[in-house]
Amino acid sequence: MHGLMQDWPLTVDRILDHARDWHGGRQVVTRSLEGPIVRQTYDETASRARRLSNALLAHGIGPGDRVATLGFNTARHMEAWYGTMGIGAVCHTLNPRLHPDQLAYIIGHAGDRLILADPVAAPLLAAVLPRTQVEQVVWMADAAPDAPGIAFEDFIAGQSDACAWGGFDERTAAGLCYTSGTTGEPKGVLYSHRSNVLHTLMVLQADVMDLSARDVVLAVVPMFHANGWGLPFSCPAVGAKLVLPGVKMDPASLCELINGEGVTFSAAVPTIWGALLQHLDATGTKLPTLKRVVIGGALCPPALIDGFRDRHGIEVRHGWGMTETSPLGVVNTPDADGGAPAQRYKQGRPPFGIELRVTDEDDRPLPHDGRTPGKLKARGAAVSEAYYGLEEPILDADGFFDTGDIAAIDPAGFVQITDRAKDLIKSGGEWISSVEIEGLVAAHPKVELAAVIGLPHPRWDERPLLAVKLRPGEAASPEDMLAVLEGRIARWWTPDEVVFVDDIPLGPTGKVDKKLVRARFEGHKLSSITETTR
Ligand code: AMP
Repeated sequence: MHGLMQDWPLTVDRILDHARDWHGGRQVVTRSLEGPIVRQTYDETASRARRLSNALLAHGIGPGDRVATLGFNTARHMEAWYGTMGIGAVCHTLNPRLHPDQLAYIIGHAGDRLILADPVAAPLLAAVLPRTQVEQVVWMADAAPDAPGIAFEDFIAGQSDACAWGGFDERTAAGLCYTSGTTGEPKGVLYSHRSNVLHTLMVLQADVMDLSARDVVLAVVPMFHANGWGLPFSCPAVGAKLVLPGVKMDPASLCELINGEGVTFSAAVPTIWGALLQHLDATGTKLPTLKRVVIGGALCPPALIDGFRDRHGIEVRHGWGMTETSPLGVVNTPDADGGAPAQRYKQGRPPFGIELRVTDEDDRPLPHDGRTPGKLKARGAAVSEAYYGLEEPILDADGFFDTGDIAAIDPAGFVQITDRAKDLIKSGGEWISSVEIEGLVAAHPKVELAAVIGLPHPRWDERPLLAVKLRPGEAASPEDMLAVLEGRIARWWTPDEVVFVDDIPLGPTGKVDKKLVRARFEGHKLSSITETTR
């Protein structure tokens, strides 16, 4: 027997309409790419997003078509999301930090028809677009740069703000975001309206982000990273004021926004918060309105959690998640008694809506004793079941997705990430593919074997070290090795150090045993031969 309740499709357009109807005067504040801080209301945002929908429809964009964005956090970027998703098209967020080759692959694989881009991305796009099928560029700025395309304002000029949003199945695709593959090409995570709405409700739980109409939220985490951790959905859902930093994410600019707008909540990766804490300590700047920050995307060092709490009275909630989990996985909010000290720095517990387990190599669940690490797996309303356009199954027999992280879960349910099974390096919140670098270096005629590992770095969390075994009798310099990477990878992927070794340990299948290589370099202090730039 079915229940007799209304069928109210969970589509994200309803979120912005809710904000328009019930929090219409609440502001969306942007540090514009042109410089000045600009303000608009949720009412205006909904209206401008609908005008964009009409412009997209007039261009011939329809349900299921992929529309890409390539930009930082701004109100126009948010309008691009809702304007696209509202008409059943798919909003594909592109990461401007990727190498042009990767972007060209991703845009081609996704079949993007139109791109809404920030003018700062014009040189990048110039290198990419000729290799793609993209029909039109819309510049998310007051005026178009000196490049093909039309300015956002010209694109929506004359369009009505009446447009029927929604009206489709809640399982319709809403967003697409590619994530680095350990081997092979990046893979597309395809969010649905339903998964995004349910994820919004998960994020809003008190033990997660605990947002309300009284909050002022600074969304530092980029919108091109896993839904911007859902903030462009969760803020309008509760009528929180939303502050978007544009391209300026240096500590002084962020402090100016926090104090100028009365920010109460924020979220970002450890690199951003590490720099901010240093700035506060060095300058004596106070952030009296900021109550809570969620730090995740990479391991949050205990010193960051303690420093914000003890010296600045700001609560840090450590969190773990990933593109495939929309991205919420776990957040560390202590119990009423403050929690056991041993739990304080762990990644935390999952909210209702996601199930987690750790298993052994044969997918058998392991005990929650806090001591037995295993493969961390996830199942839930906002977890991927497949990658876009790829046939291969990614779930185990019980429907769980293997996150590629290794974790132990304690008896109180707190998850601690202890290692990473996937062969990737996370630097400043962005992935570096060790395999790709190894492949390029191994092609050098003097090289017999190459291995790239991530080593801890005080500013970027991790930086790559390249270990090279030369062929017998050969000699080469670190610069020779780096020369083969020049122009073939993003500059910030360049290893900080190149070490020549006599041997690189191999595993039973003849592949480099990264665990052993990492063990060999444990405690090694990276001596940068390259300038680490982002
Ligand atoms: P992404 O899909 O780019 O968001 O990356 C997700 C991955 O980042 C996870 O699978 C982890 O490997 C890593 N990660 C995210 N948050 C944390 C954390 N708090 N501690 C350790 N690793 C993390």
